[in-house]
Amino acid sequence: MQLDAKIPGGPIAEKWDRHLFELKLVNPANKRKYDIIVVGTGLAGGSASATLAELGYNVKSFCIHDSPRRAHSIAAQGGINAAKNYPNDGDSIWRLFYDTVKGGDFRAREANVYRLAQISNDIIDHCVAQGIPFARDYGGLLANRSFGGAQVSRTFYARGQTGQQLLLGAYSALSRQIADGNVQMFPRREMLDLFVINGQARGIVVRNLINGQLERHDAHAVVLCTGGYGNVFFLSTNAMASNVTAAFRAYKKGAFFANPCFTQIHPTCVPVHGTYQSKLTLMSESLRNDGRVWVPKNPADKRPSGQIPEAERDYFLEEKYPSFGNLVPRDVASRNAKEQCDMGKGVGETGLAVYLDFADAIKRDTKAVIEKKYGNLFQMYEKITGENPYERPMRIYPAVHYTMGGLWVDYNLMSTIDGLFVMGEANFSDHGANRLGASALMQGLADGYFIIPYTVGGYLAGTEFADVTTDHGAFKETENDAQSRLTRLLAINGKRTVDDFHKELGLVMWDYCGMARNNDGLEKARHLIQQLRAEFWENVTVPGTGQDFNQSLERAGRVADYLEFGELMVLDALARQESCGGHFNEAYQTKGHEARRDDENFCYAAAWEYTGKEAEPQVHKEPLIFENVELSQRSYK
Ligand SMILES: Cc1cc2nc3c(=O)[nH]c(=O)nc-3n(C[C@H](O)[C@H](O)[C@H](O)COP(=O)(O)OP(=O)(O)OC[C@H]3O[C@@H](n4cnc5c(N)ncnc54)[C@H](O)[C@@H]3O)c2cc1C
Repeated sequence: MQLDAKIPGGPIAEKWDRHLFELKLVNPANKRKYDIIVVGTGLAGGSASATLAELGYNVKSFCIHDSPRRAHSIAAQGGINAAKNYPNDGDSIWRLFYDTVKGGDFRAREANVYRLAQISNDIIDHCVAQGIPFARDYGGLLANRSFGGAQVSRTFYARGQTGQQLLLGAYSALSRQIADGNVQMFPRREMLDLFVINGQARGIVVRNLINGQLERHDAHAVVLCTGGYGNVFFLSTNAMASNVTAAFRAYKKGAFFANPCFTQIHPTCVPVHGTYQSKLTLMSESLRNDGRVWVPKNPADKRPSGQIPEAERDYFLEEKYPSFGNLVPRDVASRNAKEQCDMGKGVGETGLAVYLDFADAIKRDTKAVIEKKYGNLFQMYEKITGENPYERPMRIYPAVHYTMGGLWVDYNLMSTIDGLFVMGEANFSDHGANRLGASALMQGLADGYFIIPYTVGGYLAGTEFADVTTDHGAFKETENDAQSRLTRLLAINGKRTVDDFHKELGLVMWDYCGMARNNDGLEKARHLIQQLRAEFWENVTVPGTGQDFNQSLERAGRVADYLEFGELMVLDALARQESCGGHFNEAYQTKGHEARRDDENFCYAAAWEYTGKEAEPQVHKEPLIFENVELSQRSYK
C-alpha cells in the first residue's frame, strides 16, 4: 500500500487555508444525519466531541473513567505553547514551526507542524474566551515562560496546573453539549475493538466496566483520542489507566502504527525509590527556567549539597550548551543526566539522580516569587520526598513521559482505515523523534478544536455509506472475538499476577529499549518479550468474573496488548539504524555524544502494518521532505 499523506500543494503558509477551502462541506441540515464516535475525553477527545456536537453532528463520546474530567490530560503541569510573541522577544509562527521541526530531530512532517504553529494562536484566544485562568503579568496581559528547545518565552500557563484548567474548559464545552442532547456520554467504557466493514471504520465494541457487558456502537466515523502508551514501561509519569489497547486493536484491524520506538524520557522526574513503586512523578520542565542542574565535579564527593562549594560543582548543561543552558530539549537533558550518573557523579542513595537547585533563583527573586511560580510543584515534591526544595536542591532523574509514536495519520488526521481518525498523543504526527515541552497540549487542542471539525466533514461529505447498524453479522463477530479474549484470560488461572508480568516487561523495555539502545540489547529484548508473552498466556492469574467490575481483567487485557506491542517497538528501534531525538542507538552518536542521524537512509516515518498472528509486521515508509527547514545536525550550543 502506498502511503499518501495528502499534503496540499502550494507554499507552506497557505496550505491549510487552501485545504480548508477545498474540503467538501456538510450542509448544516445534513449534519444531524451523521453519527460520530469519539473515544477518549482528554484534551484531544474532549475538545473534539464538544466542537463536533456544536457543529450539529450526533456525537457519542466514550472514556474509561467515571468522568471525562479524569483523563490523563488533567495531569499536565507546565503549559501550552503559542506563537503570540506577547513578550516581544522575537517569536513568530515561523519560529515555532522551526523550533518544533528541529526539536523533533527532523522526523516530523513539515506541513503538519506548520499548521500546528499557525493554529497555536487561535487556541489561546479560544481558551481565554472559555475563561481559562492563564497566568497574567502585573498589567493584566497573559504571561509567558520558557520551555526547552526555544530561546523565546512562548509558554502560556496556569501555575503548575495548565492541563487541569484546559481540561475544565473542554469539559465545560462538552457538558453543555451533553445537556443539549447533542453528545451521548458513555463513561466507564473501554474500547476493545474496532468494527471495520467495506474498508470503513463504522463502530466500536466496548466493555461496560461496571457490569462487564459488551456493547456495540455504530457510527459513520470513529475518532480515537486514547492517549499515549508510555505505561508499556510499567513505571512512567502517565496516569495508571493510560494504555495502548484501543490503538493496538485498531492496528490489528488495518491502521498502520508509526514510529512506535519514539519514546520521550523526561529529564526532571522524582527518582525511583523502591521496587514497590507503581508510578513516577514529573517535576515540570518549567522548573528549569529557574532551577540549575548540577552534580559534584568529583565522583567521590558524597558531601551534602550545601557543603559542596561552587567551584566544585559541575553545571554540566550550562557548561556544554551555553546558548540554551538548562533549557535544552528533553532528550538532550536526559541523556546528559544519565551520562553524569554513568560516570559515578549521580547523587542521593542510588546515585541515579542529579540536583535541580533553586538557591540562586531564590536569592535573586525571593522565595515569595518562586513560590508564586511553582508553589504547587514544590509542595508535591516535598510530600513525596520529605525534603524541602526551598532549602535544599531537588533530586531528579529521567523517566518515561510521552510517546511520539502512534497511529499513522495523513494531513486530515485520518489513519490508513477510511473513517478512522486519530488525534492527540494517540497519533504520530507532529513531534518527530522528540516532543518539545508544552507542545502536546497545543497539538491535542489544535486537533480537537480546529482540525477535525473540518476534515471529518470533508470525509463525510465525500463518502458513500452502506446501511450498517449494530445488527450486522460482522459486528456481532467482532464482539465475539473480544468476548473470547476475555474468556481466555479468565480461564488461565495461573500463578503470576498481571502486575508481575507488567513490571517484568517494563524492566526489559527500560533496560534495552529505553534511554539508550544497542542492537544486541534490542535483539535480546525481542527474545525476552516473546518468552514473557508465552508465559503470560499460560501462567497469568485473573481473579473474579467477566460479568462484574473487575480491574484485574481490565489490566490483563492492556498488559496482553503491551506484550505484543513492546515487540513492535523493539522491531522499529532495530529497523532504524540511526539515532534521532529520543531514539538513541549507541552505535550512532557524534563525538560530543549527540544523536547522529542518517538522513540519506532514514529520513522517513516508519508505518508498520499488521500482517497476521505469526507473521512479521511490514514496514511502509513515508518519506519526509524538508523544503522549508534545512536538514542539519541539531545543535543547542
Ligand atoms: C505529568 C504530566 C505532565 C504533563 N505536562 C504537560 C505540559 O505541561 N504541557 C504539554 O503540552 N504536555 C504535557 N504533558 C503531556 C500531555 O498531558 C499529554 O500528552 C496530553 O494531555 C494527552 O492528551 P490526549 O487527549 O491525547 O490523551 P489523554 O489525556 O491521555 O486522554 C485519553 C482518553 O482516552 C480514554 N481512553 C484510553 N483508552 C481507552 C479505551 N480503550 N477505551 C475508552 N477510552 C479510552 C481515557 O479514558 C481518556 O479519556 C504532560 C504529561 C504528563 C504525564
